[in-house]
Formats: sequence, C-alpha cells, structure tokens
Amino acid sequence: MTLLCSKCLQPAITFIRYNGTHLCKDHFIQYVTKRVKKEIRKQGTIDANSTIGVAISGGKDSVVALQLMYDLYHKRKNITLIGISIDEGIKGYRAESLVIAKKHCQSLGIDHVIASFKDHIGKTMDEIMQIEPKTYGACSYCGVFRRFCLNTTAKKFHVDRLVTGHNLDDMSQSILMNFINADIEKLARLGPHTKVQPGLIPRMIPLRTIPEKENALFALLNGFDVHDAVCPYSLDASRGYIKDMVYDLEEKNPGTRHSILKSYDTIKEVLASRFPPSNLKTCNTCSEPTMHSECKSCLLKNQLNTKP
Ligand code: SF4
Ligand SMILES: [Zn+2]
Ligand SMILES: [Zn+2]
Repeated sequence: MTLLCSKCLQPAITFIRYNGTHLCKDHFIQYVTKRVKKEIRKQGTIDANSTIGVAISGGKDSVVALQLMYDLYHKRKNITLIGISIDEGIKGYRAESLVIAKKHCQSLGIDHVIASFKDHIGKTMDEIMQIEPKTYGACSYCGVFRRFCLNTTAKKFHVDRLVTGHNLDDMSQSILMNFINADIEKLARLGPHTKVQPGLIPRMIPLRTIPEKENALFALLNGFDVHDAVCPYSLDASRGYIKDMVYDLEEKNPGTRHSILKSYDTIKEVLASRFPPSNLKTCNTCSEPTMHSECKSCLLKNQLNTKP
C-alpha cells in the first residue's frame, strides 16, 4: 500500500516519526526550508551590507546550510556570501571533501577560501598525531585549531556572521555532553550567538532544529554531491557514547532531541545572566580573544612544539 503525504495526495517519500506525518518530496523540502527560515529569523536580523561566511567542509550538513543561506540571501544585493573551508591535513579524507566544497561554491557563484592547519598552525593533523597521539585525542586538537582558523579567516575576509552546519543531533549531543561534564559555562556560550564580542565572529546555526537524517534526505532529494567519508581519527571522538545515548533515547521516545534543545532554549537566558560574556583579553602571542594571557590554540601549539 502506497502511503500518501499528510498534506496532499502525492505518494509520501518519508515518515517523520517525531510528529507522525508522512510527506511527499515537495512538502518535505518545504517542511525543512520553513523551519530553517524560522530559525534564522530567531537568530537575529542580518544587517544590510553584511558579509556572511559559511563554513563548508563538503559534508551534507554544510552543503545544505550553504544552499539554504544562498536561497535566502543571494537576491539581497547588499549581502555577500563566502564559503570558508578548513584543511586540517588529513590524508585520504579531507582533499576529496574540499573539491566538493569548492564545486558547490563555484556552482552558486560564491567565493571560496581554504585555510589550512599547515599555514595557520604550522602542522597538519597527520603530523600532530605523529607527535602526540594520546594525550588529548585528535578531535580536541582539531576542534581548537579549527575554531582558530575559522575565526581568523572570517575576520580576514570581513565576515560579520559565521554560519556552521551543526544539526539537531549535534546540538542535543553538545548540550547533554556539557551537562554530563558539568561545564555549564560552556553550555551558556553554545551558539547561536546573539551578542557580538570583540574579536569573535558570532555564529549562526540555521540547521540546529533539523535532524541529521532530514539533512541527508534534503541533500539527496536536491541531488547535491556530498562527501560522506568518515574521518580516520573519528574513533577518538569522545562524544561517541553520547551519540549512541541520544540515538537510543530518540528510538525509544521520538522527539527527545527536540525536547533537549527546547529545554536548553528555555534556560538559555538564565544561563546567560549567570555567565555573562567575559571581558576577553587578547592573546599575547596571536592577538586572538581569550580569557587568559594566551589562547588555547597557542597553548596547544607550544605544547606540540616542545615535545621531544
Ligand atoms: S573527527 Fe575529529 S579529527 Fe576528524 S575532522 Fe572531525 S574533529 Fe577533526
Ligand atoms: Zn505533499
Ligand atoms: Zn593565541
């Protein structure tokens, strides 16, 4: 029996478990786009003459984020979009995704820049893992250095808002992980950022309410070429068990990810007043904003450089 779309009489292509609706291709695309638009409006207005940077790895989430930002903003003549990719230097993994990222930007007529760890940090991730395979795990280095590269590159190209492709799964995992680690200050600083802090480009997260599977389906239905290889260092990812936990919870109780995000949004204001933006200093070495005399990126870089 062919199941029909809950909104029209076309055959359904998907079932949205958490709200019990069947959707056809058109209504599914409309459903995703509508929620992304709503989310963007909630994350603050984009001022005239702004430059929006979109972090694009070539993976499905970043490709969908770039496409939706383009659809929404390319007709606004005073708004410029630019794609920013980070090349961590991971052999057999990153090069292919950068080709896809570049191709998407080119097809939309958007400038694309690539910032590499090698240029900004002095070492590729592969070199870092040769020096220090155990202490923190690949993702801890990678996350810190990637934030550094993104922020400095965004500033270099006069970006006013930086879009990342984090989806609902990423968001619910981050929220839970910060709770589990009792890192409430970090939780309070989780994007999207509505306040501008000197030296830090505020983040927008347009896909934060869209589950990962819906992003994948959106990319597939639109025929986007996406990079879906797995990073060879992802086994180090400390959030692996949180991911499994959120998956199990969602399986048993559809809508759990939305509930986690909703709970977070409800207490966000309280968290923000408990942890107001700190008076950031500038790093003695690189001048990036930091709460200490030296930023985390420079600290890790020094540790790597002093390893025998
Ligand atoms: S899985 Fe970890 S090491 Fe690999 S790209 Fe992601 S953050 Fe970097
Ligand atoms: Zn329909
Ligand atoms: Zn620094």
